[in-house]
Amino acid sequence: MVVILLGPPGVGKGTQAVRLADSEGWAHVSTGDLLRSALREGTTLGEQARGFMNAGELVPDALIMDLVREHLAALGPEVGILFDGFPRTTAQAGGLDAVLAESGRKVDTVVLFEASDDELVKRLSGRRSCPECGAVYNVFFTPPENEGKCDRCGAALQHREDDAPGTVERRLQVYQEQTAPLVAYYQAHPAGVVRVPAEQSVDAVHGEFRAAVGVG
Ligand code: AMP
Repeated sequence: MVVILLGPPGVGKGTQAVRLADSEGWAHVSTGDLLRSALREGTTLGEQARGFMNAGELVPDALIMDLVREHLAALGPEVGILFDGFPRTTAQAGGLDAVLAESGRKVDTVVLFEASDDELVKRLSGRRSCPECGAVYNVFFTPPENEGKCDRCGAALQHREDDAPGTVERRLQVYQEQTAPLVAYYQAHPAGVVRVPAEQSVDAVHGEFRAAVGVG
């Protein structure tokens, strides 16, 4: 099963992906998390991506496709995959179809999470992320059990640099300009698009997400 979680920054894709990946034993592939670990490790890719990420711009498609291709090669052919934050452009979506086809796979389901810009800005200001396992918390709505520590792996949580107000505004704009066209791309694709209203509780969204993916 190959699932794409589509939606603007802060809508809850990471939270939902981690939860489903944990319960089903699927792989959670977040290009944002992969890029942040490249930054921390100081790799060439990390250095190439840094400026784009800090400015809230997209990292060039060619770099992203190399990263995804390499990551997919390390996953077994049967494992379910949840793509979170990828693809983000129609070029990446076409690239993904081609990469999956090489191993006889395809995108099965695309889930579009939706929320208003006001709600997204509120959520991003309180967001804290685990740099180790990708778990996501919100100090107002879904705090960790121990302040500042990840419930899953104990790592110190971070407030991402690109969650600062000025950068958030640009990221929302970039989403509208470059990623929102993917809705039409996937509506015309055999996978189709299932919409999930994301301004509900995490549990309510998760119920709708599971139903959309067919693991009710
Ligand atoms: P995210 O954690 O998904 O919000 O991604 C954080 C930042 O990483 C984005 O604002 C982009 O700069 C970069 N990024 C992550 N995924 C992609 C992608 N698929 N294409 C281009 N840039 C990406």
